[in-house]
Amino acid sequence: MTRMRIAAVLVWTLMACAVVRAQEQDFSKVQIKVTKVAGNIYMLEGAGGNIAASVGEDGIVIVDDQYAPLADKIQAALKDLKITDKPVRFVINTHYHGDHTGGNEPFANTGSTVIAQDNVRKRLETGGVAGNGGSLKMEAKPASKGALPIITFEHDVTVHLNGEDIRALHFPAGHTDGDAVIFFPKNNVVHMGDDFVRYGFPFIDVASGGSVQGMIAAMDKVSGQLPADVKVIPGHGGLSNLDDVRAFVTMLKETSAVVQKGIDQHRTVAQMQQEKILEPWKKWSGGFINSDQFIETLYNSLTGKPGQFVQHN
Ligand SMILES: [Zn+2]
Repeated sequence: MTRMRIAAVLVWTLMACAVVRAQEQDFSKVQIKVTKVAGNIYMLEGAGGNIAASVGEDGIVIVDDQYAPLADKIQAALKDLKITDKPVRFVINTHYHGDHTGGNEPFANTGSTVIAQDNVRKRLETGGVAGNGGSLKMEAKPASKGALPIITFEHDVTVHLNGEDIRALHFPAGHTDGDAVIFFPKNNVVHMGDDFVRYGFPFIDVASGGSVQGMIAAMDKVSGQLPADVKVIPGHGGLSNLDDVRAFVTMLKETSAVVQKGIDQHRTVAQMQQEKILEPWKKWSGGFINSDQFIETLYNSLTGKPGQFVQHN
């Protein structure tokens, strides 16, 4: 019953999101595609956010877990690698959204320990409204107890398994206020969560404490620290590299500057939309977030008119 309810909520969230417009959504048809990224790190794509997996002699650690109805398929895909019979010991959530945490409960039920930043647990527990601080609103129902992360961290946490120091580092106020970027330093791989996505203009959950300023700061900092040849797993979209991240950050900076100029000139959101001020970046529009929605997102972010923030404590 609980699982059914969660599934229904998630499907609703998914449709509201339109993140994954390709999946009008029958999870029974979803197949899990597994890509070897480097060494013992794999990327799993099905529906929802990308999964990173460290698969080795100590067992399995995954980053994000898509949707509850896919948990069995994800487990099967990991087993099919024939590297280990050991279970998924840890699940690390990059942020609280249902397309990244929907599998928490089934994974916890089969023995995994779920780890996330403090604010992820808070937001899963209370539920709330995700959105861009304006017209874009998506209800997130409170998660059941079994879906809540058991271990939370404020700043960072490291999982020492498979000969690697898998590190989750919190970046405040980017896509949400609970984002973590996950580093696999030995294998030279990073999972960015939704602070870096490939579907065009990003969804920035201003209503959940996100901001474009935080997203830019996070991606600038991360890309400045990583080796040039690091393999980048985006929250959504194909395997990427640092040049892709830099192009994304450049777009965020340029579009923010244009909207800031409009704000300085006392233009309203509607005026900026009418003036089509993001026309030069139109190739980024429409994957999930169109130009008008992104103008509104940037305006709300830059004028600090968010929803209620959960303070980073
Ligand atoms: Zn998200």
